[in-house]
Amino acid sequence: MPEANSSDNRRGGVLALAGGVGGAKLAVGLARVLPPDALTVVVNTGDDEIFYGLHVSPDIDTVTYSLAGLANPETGWGFAGDTFNALGTLKNLGADTWFGLGDHDLALHLRRTDMLRSGKTLSDVTLDLSRRMGVRHPVVPMSDQPVRTIIESDDGEMSFQEYFVHRRSEPEVIGLRFDGADSASPSPVFKSALESPNAIVFCPSNPFLSVDPIMALPGVREMIAVSDIPRVAVSPIIGGRAVKGPAARIFQTFAQKPPSALAVAEHYEGIATHFVMDNKDESSRVAVEALGYEVLVTETLMTTDAHKIALAIEVCGMAGVPI
Ligand code: GDP
Ligand code: CA
Repeated sequence: MPEANSSDNRRGGVLALAGGVGGAKLAVGLARVLPPDALTVVVNTGDDEIFYGLHVSPDIDTVTYSLAGLANPETGWGFAGDTFNALGTLKNLGADTWFGLGDHDLALHLRRTDMLRSGKTLSDVTLDLSRRMGVRHPVVPMSDQPVRTIIESDDGEMSFQEYFVHRRSEPEVIGLRFDGADSASPSPVFKSALESPNAIVFCPSNPFLSVDPIMALPGVREMIAVSDIPRVAVSPIIGGRAVKGPAARIFQTFAQKPPSALAVAEHYEGIATHFVMDNKDESSRVAVEALGYEVLVTETLMTTDAHKIALAIEVCGMAGVPI
């Protein structure tokens, strides 16, 4: 693979912002077409939570497992072929086990927690563990300080995992908070990647729950908004629906507008410069262009690695990033 996109050595390559499943899919494509020194994947940690005494970072793990080729192909998250013996034992021992973790997952969380307790940062731990799993591209938490996404719902306030996993996204989201974001800072690698990227890619992750926590870190939104490089947002909404998860409903109840590619484009207005939307949404092209975007209409559903690579190539082409 040519190392072409290192051509401008003062630049830091592609900075991809990602949540879990949707983000991981495009990250896999990008990682297949860009060398490790030309891609940094910054991942949401607003979903992190302590379970069974262990530090769980669901979006980091989804991205890491995906890049390592270890993710469960059916779910897109979790470790392929994992067993759940420890969880069964935990249940027998009286633990409330609504947050399912496989045996491989638990080993990873044990190791992460141990390393964090020894004083390492989440960035260091994530880099070390992802390397050990065979990931060559840098996977970086958005921050080394805790930021917690709190869902304000018609049934009270709850953590992201309580809402998403325990309550199966059933409560209506009426507000969102990112506790700790104000006093957190972008992680060191994120900060330096922000200083001189060739392009920024907003992966097709949940704009509210996965990308907004990253944007809530002090200085991030401003730095991205004033940068003079291509910033490409890929719509996670296809034909008015989320491929998976609560994004469409959150547009309805929280943003108070019908879920659509146009609504996603409005969400990233002033932050992104380029917008990628699905063939199914061709009819919104003119409206999205009217917002000032350069628009690409293409196949955005990524069900195979070939789709992930094809979309990554188009995203890089649009951003002028040589591959
Ligand atoms: P989570 O943290 O696991 O919920 O994952 P993300 O926030 O990264 O991704 C969730 C979003 O990904 C949902 O809104 C989905 O609609 C979107 N998504 C999942 N698969 C695809 C896909 O193949 N193509 C596109 N365009 N969006 C996708
Ligand atoms: Ca997530």
